[in-house]
Amino acid sequence: MLAHHHPYQVLVIGAGHAGCEAALASARMGAKTLLVTISRETIAQMSCNPAIGGIGKGHLVKEIDALGGEMGKAADATGIQFRVLNASRGPATRGSRCQSEMHEYHRYMRKVLEDEPSLDIAEGLVEELLIRKNRVVGIRTNNEEFYSSSVIVTTGTFLNGMIHRGEERVEAGRVNEPPSKQLSISLAGQQLRMGRMKTGTPARLDKRTIDWDSLQVQPGDDPPKQFSFWDSEILLPQVPCHIAFTNARTHQVIQDNLRRSALYGGQITGIGPRYCPSIEDKIVKFADKERHQVFLEPTGLAEDNLMIYPNGLSTSLPAEVQLDFLRTIEGLEQVEIILPGYAIEYDYADPTQLKASLELKGVENLYLAGQINGTTGYEEAAAQGLMAGINAVRKVRGEEPFLLLRGEAYIGVMLDDLITRGVTEPYRMFTSRAEHRLHLREDNADLRLSEKSWELGLKVQEELNHLGESPLKNSTTLSGLLKRPGIQMQTLQASQNLHGNLDWQNYEPAVKEQAEIGFKYEGYLARQQQELKHISALDQIRIPMGMNYDTIPGLSAEVVEILKKLQPSTLGQASRTSGMTPAAVTILRVYLRSRRAA
Ligand code: FAD
Repeated sequence: MLAHHHPYQVLVIGAGHAGCEAALASARMGAKTLLVTISRETIAQMSCNPAIGGIGKGHLVKEIDALGGEMGKAADATGIQFRVLNASRGPATRGSRCQSEMHEYHRYMRKVLEDEPSLDIAEGLVEELLIRKNRVVGIRTNNEEFYSSSVIVTTGTFLNGMIHRGEERVEAGRVNEPPSKQLSISLAGQQLRMGRMKTGTPARLDKRTIDWDSLQVQPGDDPPKQFSFWDSEILLPQVPCHIAFTNARTHQVIQDNLRRSALYGGQITGIGPRYCPSIEDKIVKFADKERHQVFLEPTGLAEDNLMIYPNGLSTSLPAEVQLDFLRTIEGLEQVEIILPGYAIEYDYADPTQLKASLELKGVENLYLAGQINGTTGYEEAAAQGLMAGINAVRKVRGEEPFLLLRGEAYIGVMLDDLITRGVTEPYRMFTSRAEHRLHLREDNADLRLSEKSWELGLKVQEELNHLGESPLKNSTTLSGLLKRPGIQMQTLQASQNLHGNLDWQNYEPAVKEQAEIGFKYEGYLARQQQELKHISALDQIRIPMGMNYDTIPGLSAEVVEILKKLQPSTLGQASRTSGMTPAAVTILRVYLRSRRAA
């Protein structure tokens, strides 16, 4: 077993949506951070729908962005269709959503993580939390140990994950990925109350086998509107989605095979998301509905990504039944499946065991964030990750936790719901959960929260990274930033993130220039001042005319020669003479002082 004795300040387990934000927040605040995840290839993987945002979820993305998180910018850089949902309704219930190029989303987030200077990334399956006297001190993977002042667990659906498809059951964290069994045991060993939940995903379809002409087109907004309030751009070409409908034949195939569904065959005991029901669920619970809408959403643009995500058809039926019912749908008569749908059951930890900072009440410096806390969705996970990352750093620094009230942010609503009410089913965000929703709008998330990201140091660190500057170790002032050689007054004034609270227009350019010189060279000027003081003190010490230098002990013959020749009148003059050493000046000063004292 390889043990790394170099301790980290924050260690994050898992690089899903919670883990990415947690690790970035921590590193950007200047903490030495390690992210341990099963594989770099699955960083920020979209396990289910290739989309960011939606009603309530869009609010979370905007709040994450205002606080200095990455999700909004990642969505802008990789979105291929943007729509504001509920656009015709009041501003409080509008929700921004984008369809994502899922491989690009992963690549974007991986690059941002890998470029973050204070962040290390290690691949490995974490099996055990190292806990001493109710305080976490590190983790053990399958072959390494790492030590850290705090640990954030963001393992999503992986804890004791079990995939169900018809009668088939496979232990897995996601399709083709290992489950996290030992870590679940390690958490349960801390007397944590764990529960079981489930969620499901539809088959992924081959876009070449769909009859697109027979389907209704759903274009995105024109022009598309970006998520991020900061310097962010929509970069990729925009494409439409398409709409299809189930019909009586589809429902019949599903009805005929219900007993083969893992959901209805009784294999799954976990509680599923009521608001995201499987197609089996819809057919049974809404038996009078003649058809259900299906959005055919592209997951990418490139030829190496042919997958179409049929939103609304999540299922745990056997693969051959999935193909049968899909082919009853107009436009999908010839469809081929690339990856069949499935349901997954996993362990979660009862979130009422957490403090508002997301630290466990029972184990110091151990934080949980994301799906492990009983939530569902990338946005809910990312928001928790951001908060856990911020709070882990603040705890390590001995600072008070950073909390958001229900009246301040949807993030505050979610965390309060989780820790005070707990969960009875996978928790997702809705605008109806917020009592103060008229105030908590998407459009004012930056006004509500961006000031806080400045105070936390999050945006400052990101901007410094952008400028090629090293991160801050502690909070600083504008004058502190100006002392860095690479940062000019103009940089601060022009930057959205670094301009602080100063009303820059109130100052004449000449005043700003003087201030810049004063701050930038403050240390140098102070040293020079000190030297001037020293020199002037030496100039005050007089040397008697005709002094006999031969009798002064310690002076070299060479120095005696110089002094005899020059006959300086002050010690200052002597010190500036070519050939005088600092040691000779000290000897002379001590001698003159002793003569005066005698
Ligand atoms: P994840 O994104 O799952 O990331 C977990 C990370 O932890 C991964 O990087 C993994 O490699 C890592 N990891 C796990 N265990 C270990 C370990 N022991 N050591 C090291 N690393 C580890 N959400 C919806 O909103 N609607 C849906 O309909 C929906 N359906 C879903 C269907 C399926 C089949 C799945 C799998 C998920 C679905 N989701 C859905 C949920 C959505 O994917 C998650 O809510 C979201 O990804 C959770 O983010 P997270 O960061 O908590 O975890």
